[in-house]
Amino acid sequence: MKKLSIQWRLTLAIAALVTVTCILLNLLISHSAVTGIDTLEDYTIQLNPPTDELLSVRIDPNQFLPELTAQIQKTKTLFYVQSAVSTIVIILISSFITYFLAGRTLSPLKKLSAQIKKVQAQNLSVPLEIPKANDEISLLTCSFNEMLARLDESFTVQRQFSANAAHELRTPLAVIQTQLDVFEKKDTYEIDAYKKTFSMIQEQTNRLSHLVEILLDMTNLQTVQRTDTVSLFELTEEVFCDLDQIAAQKQVQLIQQDGDCIITGSYILLYRAVYNLVENAIKYNHPSGSVTVQIRKEQDTAILMVSDTGIGIPPENFEKIFDPFFRVDKSRSRAMGGSGLGLALVKAISQQHGGRVQVTDSSPSGTTITFSLPANTDK
Ligand code: ADP
Repeated sequence: MKKLSIQWRLTLAIAALVTVTCILLNLLISHSAVTGIDTLEDYTIQLNPPTDELLSVRIDPNQFLPELTAQIQKTKTLFYVQSAVSTIVIILISSFITYFLAGRTLSPLKKLSAQIKKVQAQNLSVPLEIPKANDEISLLTCSFNEMLARLDESFTVQRQFSANAAHELRTPLAVIQTQLDVFEKKDTYEIDAYKKTFSMIQEQTNRLSHLVEILLDMTNLQTVQRTDTVSLFELTEEVFCDLDQIAAQKQVQLIQQDGDCIITGSYILLYRAVYNLVENAIKYNHPSGSVTVQIRKEQDTAILMVSDTGIGIPPENFEKIFDPFFRVDKSRSRAMGGSGLGLALVKAISQQHGGRVQVTDSSPSGTTITFSLPANTDK
């Protein structure tokens, strides 16, 4: 039954229903009709003779009126045959009508299915034609169109992401290739030329591996367990410890204010997020500047604020800086080994933990980025 089309299933179901109804109706009518006829077969004639005594004569039609009996029998048989034939005809006609009507009712569904078959990754932005009738099928088509729009959006984002990633990966490879070509064409090889070429290759491969590392992190984000109990103060201390040298090189002072909050999540991912925020605050800072991290709890939310005394972010880019590969100043970011993925990863991590990250303040004299996450209730 499951292999049959809905049109056939509907037809068979209605045919079965009509058959049962007709047979029951037939049995009922036949029973009452036959009982009625049978009572005719046996009857009594009452005579009123001159005397007061009532005289009854019982007549058996089988003997008294054999022709009438035969007629009754014939009528009964005819009745049975006619009922059976009309039942079959009714069943056939109703099944045919059901098949036809079901076909007509389901035709928009067939049309929809034909349209869906034509949907390809290339034409996701073209919505399906919505049937005029305001019925379930037009509702289904609307929902399908909404799903197509969402898919199209995420396909576009993915495509853009892949194109940007390929571009970012290609740049260092192209630099390496050019340098090697130049090196190969040289007639004499001096030790300085070797050193220069090797350091350049090292720099570019570092950039490549940094990029691949972030790309891998972003891909594996969903699979990481988020069950660690994390003290944001201790985590920041570790980040400061690891970035101490870079901060010293840039003559940037790292300041951690008092205050802590305990949250549940992935220590590795949260470390990565805070690391990226503090690293940016150092990278985009002025010499003799500072980076301050402040942690506090507001109701059920843990708030970690990273403030710097750096170059600031234009207000129109407050949201965009969290998009993959977006950089306010591309050449500056590249020169500092940036990939444009750092804050996109921070945003993904915050979302993964049910939190958010946003620029809460920025001016040419500094920026504050706030990272908020659901805090544990016991502290
Ligand atoms: P990048 O690898 O270029 O640092 P990010 O995703 O970490 O990529 O940051 C995106 C862009 O946001 C950076 O290129 C920079 O222009 C800007 N940005 C991020 N953090 C800061 C900050 N603290 N101060 C000023 N600009 C910042």
